[in-house]
Amino acid sequence: MTWQQRIEQRLAEKRASDSLRIRQVNECGSGRYLINNGGRFLNFSSNDYLGLSQHPDIIRAWQKGAEQYGIGSGGSGHVTGYSLAHQQLETELAAWLGYPRALLFISGFAANQAVIAALAGKQDRIVADRLSHASLLEAALQSPAQLRRFAHNDVAALNKLLTASCDGQQLVVTEGVFSMDGDQAPLAEMAESARKAAAWLMVDDAHGIGVLGEEGRGSCFDQGVKPELLVMTFGKAFGVSGAAVLCSDTVADYFLQSARHLIYSTSMPPAQACALSAALKVVRAGDERRVRLHANIADFRRGLVQLPFSLTESHTAIQPLVVGENSRTLGLSARLRERGFWLTAIRPPTVAPGSARLRVTLTAEHTQQDIVALLEALYDETR
Ligand SMILES: *Cc1c(COP(=O)(O)O)cnc(C)c1O
Repeated sequence: MTWQQRIEQRLAEKRASDSLRIRQVNECGSGRYLINNGGRFLNFSSNDYLGLSQHPDIIRAWQKGAEQYGIGSGGSGHVTGYSLAHQQLETELAAWLGYPRALLFISGFAANQAVIAALAGKQDRIVADRLSHASLLEAALQSPAQLRRFAHNDVAALNKLLTASCDGQQLVVTEGVFSMDGDQAPLAEMAESARKAAAWLMVDDAHGIGVLGEEGRGSCFDQGVKPELLVMTFGKAFGVSGAAVLCSDTVADYFLQSARHLIYSTSMPPAQACALSAALKVVRAGDERRVRLHANIADFRRGLVQLPFSLTESHTAIQPLVVGENSRTLGLSARLRERGFWLTAIRPPTVAPGSARLRVTLTAEHTQQDIVALLEALYDETR
C-alpha cells in the first residue's frame, strides 16, 4: 500500500465511524458568545472559565509588552529568549503557589512531554490514572519507563501497583480535575500512597488552576497537597496559552539541562509573559468570578436532574453529558447549534468507545438566563 492509499484508507475509516475531526472557522471562539459564519452562539465549549480571554487589562498588558519587547522572543530561553518578563512571571507563579521555582513552557502538552521525558528512565515505573490527558499518557508510552495505568481515581488500585517491586523510581501521574469528566482526583490519599512508596507525585491541574481553592490556587492547594511536580496551563482559566511547571530548585536546574522542549524550542513571546502576569493578578483577585462560576455550575446541575443524562461526580466547570454513540452525539450537537448553542461533540479516542458526549463547560461569563436557556433546549431536544 502506498503512502497515499494508506492515508486515504484511514480517512475513509474515520468517516465511516462518524469520527472524522473537522475544525470550524470562528470569528471569535472564546468568551460568552462564539461567533461563527456571522451567527452568534452561546458558547458552552470553551475552557475560558473565568472569561479572561477578553479581559481589557490583560489585552493591554500584551500590547504594552509588545511595544516594549517586540513581537517574538528571538530564540530558546537558553540562547536569547529569556527576558525580564519571563523571569518576573516565573517568580510570581512560584510565590503564588508556594514552590521554590516555576519554569515556563510554550504549552501544557509540551510541559507534560518534557517533564516525563526528562525524568523517566529505563528502570523506572510511571503509574498513571487511566483517564490522564493524552499529553501525559503519550509521553509515558514513549518513555523507556514501564507504564502502568490504574482504574480512574482508584487509590487501592494505585497502591497495589506501587507496592510491586521496582528497580528504579516511581512517578505517580494524575490530573487534578479530569478534562473530559470534570471530577477531581483524591489527591490527599494519592499523595500519601506516593509518600509511602517513596514515589513522586505529578499533578496536571490544567482545569483546577484559577477555578478551585483560595485565590484560584487550584486542586492541590484546595486539598492541602504539595506534589513534587505541579503542571499548570494558561490556556484555560488564565484565558491565554502556555504552561508552567512548579518544582524544587534542584529539579528546575535539572530540567534546564534536560527538558528538550525548553532547550530546542523558541520561548513564548515576552509580551505573552506580560499578559500572563496581568492575568495572574486578575485570577488572584477573581473571587467574584469564581463565585459566579460556581453558582452557574450549581444551577446547571440542579437543572440536569430533569434531563435524561446521568448526574456525574463533577462539581467543576466541566459537566459531561454522555450520549453514547457518535452519530447521536453529533446529531444533538447540530440541533443545539440550530437553536443558538455551541456544544462541541467529544468522541473516541478522546473518550472511551461508546461514551461520546457533549462536554458542557460553564464560565463566569454565563448568566443565569443562559443556563436556563441551555437546560430548556436540552430538555426539548432529548424528550
Ligand atoms: C489542555 C490540557 C493540556 C494541554 O495544555 P495546552 O496548554 O493546551 O497544550 C494538558 N493537560 C490537560 C489536563 C489539559 O486539559
